[in-house]
Amino acid sequence: MTLSERDKKHLWHPLTQHKTSPDTLAIVKAKGVKLWDESGKEYIDGISSWYTSMYGHCNPYITSKVAEQMQKLDQVVFSGFTHEPAIQLSEELIKILPSNQEKLFFSDNGSTSTEIGIKMALQYHFNLGNERKVMLAFEEGFHGDTFGAMSVSGLSVYNGAFEDHFLEVVRIPTPNGENNPKVLQSLENLIKENAIAGFIYEPLVQGAAGMKMHDADGLNAILRTCRENGIIIVADEVMTGFGKTGKNFASEYMEEQPDIICMSKALTAGLLPMAITSCSMKIFNAFYDNDIAKGLFHGHTYTANPLACTAALAGIELLNSEEIQQNIQKVIHSHSGFLEEIKDHPKVTNPRQLGVILAFELNVEMERYGNLRNKLFQHFMGNGVFLRPLGNTIYILAPYVISQEELQKVYDSILSALEIF
Ligand SMILES: *Cc1c(COP(=O)(O)O)cnc(C)c1O
Repeated sequence: MTLSERDKKHLWHPLTQHKTSPDTLAIVKAKGVKLWDESGKEYIDGISSWYTSMYGHCNPYITSKVAEQMQKLDQVVFSGFTHEPAIQLSEELIKILPSNQEKLFFSDNGSTSTEIGIKMALQYHFNLGNERKVMLAFEEGFHGDTFGAMSVSGLSVYNGAFEDHFLEVVRIPTPNGENNPKVLQSLENLIKENAIAGFIYEPLVQGAAGMKMHDADGLNAILRTCRENGIIIVADEVMTGFGKTGKNFASEYMEEQPDIICMSKALTAGLLPMAITSCSMKIFNAFYDNDIAKGLFHGHTYTANPLACTAALAGIELLNSEEIQQNIQKVIHSHSGFLEEIKDHPKVTNPRQLGVILAFELNVEMERYGNLRNKLFQHFMGNGVFLRPLGNTIYILAPYVISQEELQKVYDSILSALEIF
């Protein structure tokens, strides 16, 4: 029996309706930008396995660091104890975060990092005795699958069973330049009508919504209005963090800095699951008290796991290296050339790029293709390229270490899709 056949007996996959989904593909090996399936076919990982493996899979520098750490200290309770990997990581991460960020709170995945960001914003006001319980979010945002994260996510078509239990959330559209004054006006109206505790948003790029990009000036004006009105600013950089937008964090494109930043995905370079919610002293100080109940009573068993911290530390070292920074510039430059090439194609709508993220919508009659998204996916995989379209949105978010030749292979498979569909 193949792995794909054995898989079916006991495994329940995420985001999958098993009755109608095609079989899962078994991957047996990964190296650099490539994945191999059990039949030996290779694929370029054009989405860095959900934006995690930005320095390449099984990166020898990162794996050797983690292997070393693994012989020394594998796991210890982080409540009442500490260790060098977490301390070193804190020192290095603070250096690359926006300058107001001072404290790091660990968890295990992107959803818990935003859950903690939301809890920090709500408890900040609770501790100060403010009656503020409403969260503000963008329409079509995505922040994860735990209850708080689901509540603030605008993309909740499959959340029907849980909606009665959600937090109270009000929403504004994303600013696109043209609509900036209107968005600000609706924000001001919402502020008058609701006791808003915090604003959570994906800065500049909404990943799950289909790599939708919005206007930095418009976002900056929103953040300024939030700050003037005592609303805690929570940037969800789970997808955008660690270099993808051309800066270490997308928040660097705005003047107003967030009070809280959520990180995961590329944080550990695709090696181990971990997340961090960072915050400024203003937030931390609201929890710092003789009253024990004012603390943040949230904690996961694997908090600040030494191996995950070591992977993150090695990832940041690579991110800071001249080699990776040059690679990032090369990918940005190459994407710009490709966008120029396809932007006037009749089937290409809304071509866009920020940093190493390139996206556009394929403008074809959806009905003609039954399930267009699956057909596109099969087309790319058939070409040995792992791209995972979102509806009719095609996007590339490849590892920084991708070569020009491999990039060209990804572009070629997109060009042939433009011919075929
Ligand atoms: C992926 C993602 C999350 C959720 O992270 P998980 O690790 O999948 O729980 C939250 N926010 C954003 C912006 C994401 O892209």
